[in-house]
Amino acid sequence: MKKTLPALFAAALVFSACDSQSPSEVQTRASDDSGLSPVVVADFSSASKNGDDVSPFLVAVNEQLAAAGANFAVAKAEYVTSPDGGEAGQTVFAFNRTLRLSSKWVPNDDRRLADGDNITYMSSQLLGLNFANGSIDSEPIVDATFGTYGSTACNALPLVKRPDPGVWPSAILALNGSPGDPFVADIVTLGFLPGSIFDLVLGPGASNNVLGVTFTYIFGSFDGGGNFTPSDVDNNGRTDTALKEVWYNDAFAWTDTGVGGIDIETVALHENGHALEMGHFGKVAVTGNGKLHVSPRAVMNAFILGVQRDLLGTDNASYCGNFASWPN
Ligand SMILES: [Zn+2]
Repeated sequence: MKKTLPALFAAALVFSACDSQSPSEVQTRASDDSGLSPVVVADFSSASKNGDDVSPFLVAVNEQLAAAGANFAVAKAEYVTSPDGGEAGQTVFAFNRTLRLSSKWVPNDDRRLADGDNITYMSSQLLGLNFANGSIDSEPIVDATFGTYGSTACNALPLVKRPDPGVWPSAILALNGSPGDPFVADIVTLGFLPGSIFDLVLGPGASNNVLGVTFTYIFGSFDGGGNFTPSDVDNNGRTDTALKEVWYNDAFAWTDTGVGGIDIETVALHENGHALEMGHFGKVAVTGNGKLHVSPRAVMNAFILGVQRDLLGTDNASYCGNFASWPN
């Protein structure tokens, strides 16, 4: 990991410094030229990094969904960081504290593209965003992480891949001005997006320290005033997950070998943990020199310490707690 620091820092700097004129491969694949933009514009000026964990972007997304009469809303975004920035990953919410119930997939939920009791996943290939740094095909690696979850000792949750239907699948990013159809699979991996998109959606600076993010949407209804009431059709005390959308930050140097960059499989295992309803684990501490520490180690720690392609104790316990008795 240490050897890669100068490269990572340089990559992030180059990207954020020349949004409009750099011919970097990242921008040629997914920039303003490619037609990608957030579905809403948010004002981050009143959001502080400390204390305010309601995202103005997510609030604005929900205002748009309310106006469109949608039966779902974005609930939260969970992001993971590189420890080198000195900041642990966070969960940012679309609602204030009264509406932060945890959500769970409902088996056989016909409001989403349910496939019986299966939970389905898909990697979009539409814009080539599945290629990290323009060269590493992440799709089989992302698939492998679902295999890892599917091979846990308690496994009762069938995870099934759907083919890419070739439609733009994002609820958050518009393509050429049009929002996508996100209900093409339960868990949609959009791929590796330019750092500039992370700044626009998660706030200034996100391009430099956020490796990946998972957005959670829940079902419910908006009233005429734009207030959202989540549903709980299976009466389990949890709101009903509508879909998950996963992004990775292409401003970092990525690797599929575990050396020379950030390991894709490690971060994908983490993000898909969020897709499978796990939150962050571990007590984070910052030492005098600004270095982050966390205990116990877990795939679901809020920052990525190094290569970790297998679930650890707390990960296994949480996953099994969620799904050992699925679909009951
Ligand atoms: Zn996370």
